[in-house]
Amino acid sequence: MIDGLQSVVIVGGGISGLTTALSLANVGIHSVVLERNLSEVDVGAGIQLSPNATRIFHQIGLERDLAEIGRTPSTMEWLDGETDQRIASFPISSYVKANFDAPYLQLYRPELIRTLERACSIDERIELRKGVAVEALRLHADSVVIETSTGDIRADLCVGADGTNSTVRRNLSNSFDYGRFAGFAYRTTIPLTQLNNEFAQNLTRLWLNSRFHVVTYPVGAEPVLNCVFVVESDDAEIPEDMHRQKSSRKSLSKTIDSPSALLGTLLERVSEDSLFRWPLFQFPPVRVRQLGEYPLALVGDAWHTTLPFAGQGAALAIEDAITLARSLSELRLGTLASRLSIFETMRIPRVCQVQRISARNRTVYHLGNPVLKRLRNWGAQFAYRRTTERLFSYENM
Ligand SMILES: Cc1cc2nc3c(=O)[nH]c(=O)nc-3n(C[C@H](O)[C@H](O)[C@H](O)COP(=O)(O)OP(=O)(O)OC[C@H]3O[C@@H](n4cnc5c(N)ncnc54)[C@H](O)[C@@H]3O)c2cc1C
Repeated sequence: MIDGLQSVVIVGGGISGLTTALSLANVGIHSVVLERNLSEVDVGAGIQLSPNATRIFHQIGLERDLAEIGRTPSTMEWLDGETDQRIASFPISSYVKANFDAPYLQLYRPELIRTLERACSIDERIELRKGVAVEALRLHADSVVIETSTGDIRADLCVGADGTNSTVRRNLSNSFDYGRFAGFAYRTTIPLTQLNNEFAQNLTRLWLNSRFHVVTYPVGAEPVLNCVFVVESDDAEIPEDMHRQKSSRKSLSKTIDSPSALLGTLLERVSEDSLFRWPLFQFPPVRVRQLGEYPLALVGDAWHTTLPFAGQGAALAIEDAITLARSLSELRLGTLASRLSIFETMRIPRVCQVQRISARNRTVYHLGNPVLKRLRNWGAQFAYRRTTERLFSYENM
């Protein structure tokens, strides 16, 4: 047990919270994870984890578990959203194998969460309490009292891993800016048995159009095609409900109004029961330390929700988790306050770099000008390599 850190409480049992608990356990720090839900909801369907994230899971002992549930696509294809014409193709499997020390994986989110929960449950340094909702915090110089639906808990350190709509973040300051609303991601899955062989291939596909883009890839033990339809929105107003919302085929078809033949097939197979849409935001990480010297840290979406155009939100959360754990265990870094400060200093430039790449991808994916589109298509191979080198080769602390 690290000096002065007898009780660490993590709010939120999503990818950030669970990975933070496992990373802390890896350096000998005990923690309690409070998750408001009793069962999985809101997790979405598929997730892509790039080598900067899978490398960390390998470091904390999850290599075998991940290999069991993840698959590496052979190729990533960019297609025109109106004609299905191929714009570019990247041999992602061989490229990652040749250039990075960890795999690129596509996973079914519920399977990933279950794997992380299982790893937490067999580690005696972690206590996962489900069905406990955090309502407010009382912040003191050397402790935090966490008010929950089942009573108060005192902590030497509280880590907010409670997502975009974070209660921890709001309790710290009401003045946080939720950034600019960028549109919606409609997410669904379609069983591969309901689709022809064209969709059964082990590919990641990205269809580009000036108003939308669509990403598909197969995931899961009982394989389904994960489909994400991302549409721009002119709404300047941030929707009040920042969570997922039930959606309808009508609303989706209205936005994907001139789909290619393959996209048309997908739209026909979408089942309303499994169609949800998420509002998209991006807000930069703030310096928690400037708001007061409280024993408190934020990780993942609670700290810096990121647009999904580079597939890096969870990867950033995983990088946060290991960096926080290693900063806390590095006693040479001084007091708890200075270790937390160093954690923030190390993470903020990286998060901002990834957020810039995500925002730029948004512009590039949705180009409308025919000349710029030709330029993009011509340089796609080179740009993809350059961007992925910056994203995938990040070395955490
Ligand atoms: C369309 C889309 C596609 C994406 N694709 C990718 C991708 O391919 N790769 C990638 O790396 N990232 C991707 N992301 C981003 C990624 O999904 C998120 O960054 C990641 O899930 C954030 O995890 P988190 O644990 O920080 O937050 P969350 O997943 O929101 O988890 C927060 C947890 O805290 C709990 N909680 C909230 N409030 C409380 C409370 N008051 N008390 C107790 N518990 C609470 C919630 O129930 C939840 O379990 C995508 C995002 C979107 C929208």
